[in-house]
Amino acid sequence: MTESTPATERTALVSGASRGIGRAVAVALGAAGHPVACGYASDATAAEETAALVTAAGGAARAVHLDVRSAESVDAAFADVEGSLGAVTVLVNNAGVTQDGLLARMSDDQWDTVLDTNLGGAFHTIRRAAPKMMKARFGRIVNISSVSGHIGAPGQANYSAAKAGLLGLSRAVARELAPRNVTCNVVAPGPIVTAMTDAMPDEWRAAMTGTVPLGRLGTPEEVAAVVAFLCSEGAAYVTGALVPVDGGLGMGH
Ligand code: NAP
Repeated sequence: MTESTPATERTALVSGASRGIGRAVAVALGAAGHPVACGYASDATAAEETAALVTAAGGAARAVHLDVRSAESVDAAFADVEGSLGAVTVLVNNAGVTQDGLLARMSDDQWDTVLDTNLGGAFHTIRRAAPKMMKARFGRIVNISSVSGHIGAPGQANYSAAKAGLLGLSRAVARELAPRNVTCNVVAPGPIVTAMTDAMPDEWRAAMTGTVPLGRLGTPEEVAAVVAFLCSEGAAYVTGALVPVDGGLGMGH
């Protein structure tokens, strides 16, 4: 890979690619021409299915175990991808969990799990990816935040804090790595139809739909299209940006 290698041929790693938004992102990046490493924490079979979807569309892909909470797991996953698909210069931090609860009853464990996964995980992967991106004089990092991180959500103090933290992390990284042509941006989805929202009560989904100006939940593919753009050549001059994909829910925050 040289500086002149088209952005679309750069090796991508997507955390949490076993389902939902991560799967759609992996497929969109594969369709754009990237070799794609599909990260999973617990569901190897589902990540293999994602990789199969990418390869069926003509791309190169492999499933890779990647628990973003563990720096050791992150290091092992990157080493695996470097040895098979090449150095990771496109990184999508999509892995995320919720453990909702009202603040007064939120346990330390609920707080730590959500912060460690959603925010600490991105720190681990970016720290591991940055040296190779700087050496390549090319990098695209996209961190998946949430509208909850920017307008707040009751019962989600941990999740909102982690997702807001991703913005600060991303902007520090954007400034630090800009001299090496590495961009770092944030995509903030609103309510999207995935396992995460399927787990919410029906009343929540109905109430949420009512607050979205476009009047519906979004799809993983609608988030993936924006992520793929931010990883493309066309987004070369976009860094430190927060791009909502939320049907107007946050009105740009
Ligand atoms: P999802 O269907 O619940 O999938 C979560 C993914 O994260 C799974 O692939 C899971 O892997 C992975 N994961 C969980 N813990 C992990 C860990 N410690 N290390 C690595 N991977 C881990 O989620 P989703 O709805 O597609 O959401 C994807 C991202 O978008 C999340 O960051 C979420 O916060 C954000 N988001 C979602 C919505 C929404 O409405 N769905 C809205 C705003 C933002 P395994 O299956 O292998 O365990």
